[in-house]
Amino acid sequence: MKIIIAGAGAMGSRFGLMLHRANHEVVFVDGWQDHIDEINKNGLQANFNGEEIVENIPIYNQNEISKINYSADLVILFTKAMQLDNMLQSISNLLHERTKVLCLLNGIGHEDTIEKYVPYDNILLGNTMWTSGIEGPGKVKLFGDGSVDLQNLGVGQKQIANEVIEALNQAGLNAQYSSNILSSIYKKACVNGTMNGLCTILDCNIADFGKTSYEDRIINQIVDEFIAIADAQNIPLNKDEILDQIKSSYNLETIGLHYPSMYQDLIINHRLTEIDYINGVIVRKGEQYQIATPYCTFLTELIHTKEELLGVK
Ligand code: NAD
Repeated sequence: MKIIIAGAGAMGSRFGLMLHRANHEVVFVDGWQDHIDEINKNGLQANFNGEEIVENIPIYNQNEISKINYSADLVILFTKAMQLDNMLQSISNLLHERTKVLCLLNGIGHEDTIEKYVPYDNILLGNTMWTSGIEGPGKVKLFGDGSVDLQNLGVGQKQIANEVIEALNQAGLNAQYSSNILSSIYKKACVNGTMNGLCTILDCNIADFGKTSYEDRIINQIVDEFIAIADAQNIPLNKDEILDQIKSSYNLETIGLHYPSMYQDLIINHRLTEIDYINGVIVRKGEQYQIATPYCTFLTELIHTKEELLGVK
């Protein structure tokens, strides 16, 4: 399959590398010039489960799309949420009427942005449990296993999702069809919407937050807000299941010692966060549906305040 990875950072590199190794025709599109230069010069360098490998995969700056003479069957979106609209604008000339577009970003509501550029029937939404880290321009660290759940938005067109699932599975990406992807996306957003913002503002790892006497109250309040907004859109969520998933992350033997990705982005790397696409979406939808969202509002504002204090743009 001819595949464009739009956003070739940590996760885009992982998916691109694995699909390329499975003989799919992969092209990267990205906006980080140092990363593009390094990949063009020395290839994509990856520590892939302990093995150092290099793969030569074509990469283009999203501002030089006219150089790409390529008609993709599939585009996989892997920008950060705040880069998505700009990326879609950049690649819009590469999308033809049959190009499928799969969004695997964290966060809620990306379909509203994608729909501006892609026919509804060509959009697929997904959720992934794969992880990846970027070590510097051109270098990624890929450890562990993961999975992908996905669904096409168009009604009665499951074969579109199945074709994408087959391509991902040829690369060992462990993909499967989900009959209610919006529920899975909201469920994951509840985990991110608690652990990411809270550990970032409180400057603690997940386990330490879990040991505080306030954790249960704060988690319950935030999850209630997500559930109220999901409910207003007829997206079913099971609160007990979500709380179990959040609380299981406190375990020191799994990811308890981990500082969530928002912490890494903001506190360590001084990069903007995806808060507007996690808790911030709940705030915006709350205004639309007239549902109060005080905890998500406060957390979103605190994270933006921290971004300002750190001078992050
Ligand atoms: P990323 O920050 O590594 O890459 C996103 C974009 O930012 C890419 O275009 C990349 O080139 C650019 N970028 C990265 N570092 C940069 C730097 N120092 N300077 C300038 N540009 C830079 O993001 P990601 O981790 O690949 O995440 C993409 C999406 O996938 C997000 O929505 C994220 O929440 C989600 N996600 C990430 C993981 C993970 O383990 N990393 C897991 C699941 C979902």
